[in-house]
Amino acid sequence: MLSEKSVQLGTARSVIRELFEYGKMRAAVVGAENVFDFSIGNPSVQPPAEVNAEAIRLLAESDPVAMHGYTSAQGDPVARQMIADSLNRRFSAGAAPEDLYISTGAAGALCGCLHGLACQGDEFVVFAPYFPEYKVFIEKTGAAMRLIPPDTKGFQIDFEALAAALNPHTKAVLVNSPNNPSGAVYSEETVRRLSALLLERSKEYGHPIYIISDEPYREIVYEGYSVPWIPAFYPYTLVCYSFSKSLSVPGERLGYVYVPKSANTEEPVYAAVAGASRALGYVSAPSLFQRVCARCADLTADISVYAENRRLLLEGLEKCGIECVEPGGTFYLFPRTIGNDLAFCEIAKSQDLLIVPGTGFGCPDHVRISYCVPTERILRALPAFARCAELARKG
Ligand code: PLP
Repeated sequence: MLSEKSVQLGTARSVIRELFEYGKMRAAVVGAENVFDFSIGNPSVQPPAEVNAEAIRLLAESDPVAMHGYTSAQGDPVARQMIADSLNRRFSAGAAPEDLYISTGAAGALCGCLHGLACQGDEFVVFAPYFPEYKVFIEKTGAAMRLIPPDTKGFQIDFEALAAALNPHTKAVLVNSPNNPSGAVYSEETVRRLSALLLERSKEYGHPIYIISDEPYREIVYEGYSVPWIPAFYPYTLVCYSFSKSLSVPGERLGYVYVPKSANTEEPVYAAVAGASRALGYVSAPSLFQRVCARCADLTADISVYAENRRLLLEGLEKCGIECVEPGGTFYLFPRTIGNDLAFCEIAKSQDLLIVPGTGFGCPDHVRISYCVPTERILRALPAFARCAELARKG
């Protein structure tokens, strides 16, 4: 007898993966240049030159046994010191190596936090639209996901709905700003308001409600937007970071959990994250890339291509009469569909335009367009978007 849930998760392909595979199949038939795949969030710009240079230098100059060997479970101490220094330079974080647990990407960081915090009967609050893996990660802990319906006007926090959802079982609120899939960025004012509400409720319930801040897109923000450093506003914040998008190295599987000292005062949160990561087998993240990413922690890949893609697509969609909230960050747009999102995506597919229905993100009648693609693809795809809008209008 096997875990039914695990078999089901292992069998069901994600919608995004399915589209991606379909795109490859269509490319073989009609030519890659005629398939407009906007399904997956794989960075399309090169990592900063320093990433390869550091990897090559470290391999050439270091003792290979040490470089390819295990680090301590929570990560190489020198790498953790370098990441702490970077956080202190950029956010005056007051971080120290013992506050950091180096993980396999944001996914590893999130699972370490969720399993570390979750007790039977707990709830984790998630705002729609959300990264679909949150549900998988949360439910595996035995806790429940409490979903807040989307505010489709601006994809900001619906404070009334949040206030109604919080209760003594709330263990943490997941925050993802800049957001996948909407691109929304929370302002400092929003973070202050969220902090005030959670502090009030933490006091009322007699235990901290944590914020798990999932920040893989922290550095991917556009002119006029900035991402507040949440631990500066809320003491019980756990930061889950990934170098996947900022350094364009998603396949290297590198990120970290940062547990500020303020989050570790009421309960031994760092120990819980480390213990859960140990129990999950998430120890000693990839050794070479711990060192590479730590040395490149202040850098960001050149996101000017994403900025240009965003501009072109926003203009193009507007011309087709497709409404879209302007995203402050990430490389995703999340426009409203003409009619039902599943039907809209099928029409798009008939034009070899591969986009992801909002339903899977907890927000129907929207669609995610991942624009981390060559600009050329966007220019070629704009007529397909126009045809798609026209066909959807005809019903
Ligand atoms: N969280 C969000 C919001 C994401 O979009 C992703 C990846 O796309 C992850 C977490 C997982 O990141 P990683 O690949 O670094 O594990």
